[in-house]
Amino acid sequence: MEFRKNDLVTLEIEDCGIDGEGIGKADGFTVFVKDAVIGDTVTAKIIKAKKNYGYGRLMEVLKPSPYRVEPKCEFARQCGGCQLQALSYDQQLVFKTNKVKGHLERIGGFTDIPMEPIIGMDELFHYRNKAQFPVGYDKEGNLVAGFYAGRTHSIVANTNCAIQAKVTHPIVEKVLAYMRGNKISAYDEKNHSGLIRHILTRVGFTTGEIMVCLIVNGTAKQLKNINKLVDKLKEIEGMTSIIVNTNTDKTNKILGLHCETVWGQDYIEDYIGDIKYQIGPLSFYQVNPQQTKVLYSKALEYADLKGQELVWDLYCGIGTISLFLAQKAKQVYGVEIIKEAIDDARRNATLNHMDNVEFFVGKAEEIVPAQYEKTGIHPDVIVVDPPRKGCDAALLNTMLDMAPERIVYVSCDPATLARDLKILCAEKYTLEKVAVVDQFSHSVHVESVVLLQRKNM
Ligand code: SAH
Repeated sequence: MEFRKNDLVTLEIEDCGIDGEGIGKADGFTVFVKDAVIGDTVTAKIIKAKKNYGYGRLMEVLKPSPYRVEPKCEFARQCGGCQLQALSYDQQLVFKTNKVKGHLERIGGFTDIPMEPIIGMDELFHYRNKAQFPVGYDKEGNLVAGFYAGRTHSIVANTNCAIQAKVTHPIVEKVLAYMRGNKISAYDEKNHSGLIRHILTRVGFTTGEIMVCLIVNGTAKQLKNINKLVDKLKEIEGMTSIIVNTNTDKTNKILGLHCETVWGQDYIEDYIGDIKYQIGPLSFYQVNPQQTKVLYSKALEYADLKGQELVWDLYCGIGTISLFLAQKAKQVYGVEIIKEAIDDARRNATLNHMDNVEFFVGKAEEIVPAQYEKTGIHPDVIVVDPPRKGCDAALLNTMLDMAPERIVYVSCDPATLARDLKILCAEKYTLEKVAVVDQFSHSVHVESVVLLQRKNM
């Protein structure tokens, strides 16, 4: 059946889309409904209709889902940060498990999938160690900071985010008070005028060290009486680094390239497991270090290293997984496309006195085939942790040629994971284990790690 704009439909919400919207079907017609929760029965008004699917506005919840809960944050509905706060955490985990399993079945063609029980989080709130608050003005012209509403750049004013480290709240309030007291303007995207664009905070959860970085459409010199702010921020226990980052470009990118330390160190330090990292304002670092440790321990368990192995870690970022593996392997090679990330990776290897890791800058799909052609060496284990788009076909083919005993695939997108596993498991490998590790409660993101074992042929 076809539907038209303004039609009213009754739907049972059975799934959740990438932005957290509820998905239901009316006579084979799929409707995406923002703010509807899995398990709800709702009426929705079609606001946009295509041939087989459309978008609906939630009009009434006829029967609330048994999994509906009161969001902790009063801005949960408007704010683009969280998508699932109205869904009970148990059900968030069921949703994430089913998502991975469903994709492996439908896209990967797998049956009898060896799913381990999902590993949920202990701390469902205040788990993020990095926040980037945009600063601007509300409709009345008041200075505000908060987060963007979904898909827009209008700021939902909220300095007390439910998933950020608690200390971000006083930090952001102090910055806003300083701006008001010293007539420091917020950046205005439309006119490319004004000064402070974002307030970035980073907290080392293990060390307690804190960094505050102001992203400014100008330089530190233009921030009048910055010392007054520094004095206020220093009162916060753990304050280690206060930095001004210059970004004078007309861009959606948050950070510019130039940083000036106005007080303290240029970086903070933190640990994942026993490995220490130096983190600057521009460094990539996992935002939920506690669950990252769980995820990487799983990857390490699957790699099953005894000490003599040669391991490749592809898409290695700043080498987080590489250094984890290097604790147990003979030699690890990491590959990453971004040079600055490899600079961090090398520095972190030195910081941890690890000399059995080597890093390559470049595309995995170019570096790995070239190295294999040059050396002909077969590694024992290959670990991949690609971005959402998954692995390049040329890389998958080289991995099959290299034929390591085990492949450990860490994935942030179950759809491309399933697509790639179908290729890897066509002949040479079997799907041994699948673990889903929740990293981001209240968001729709799903992280999983998979073990493939080479068949004895
Ligand atoms: N394993 C890392 C992060 C993985 S995120 C960690 O634990 O921190 C995926 C990484 O792949 C990003 O750092 C991205 O820059 C990198 N990347 C993207 N395309 C790539 C390619 N074609 N070859 C190598 N690295 C790539």
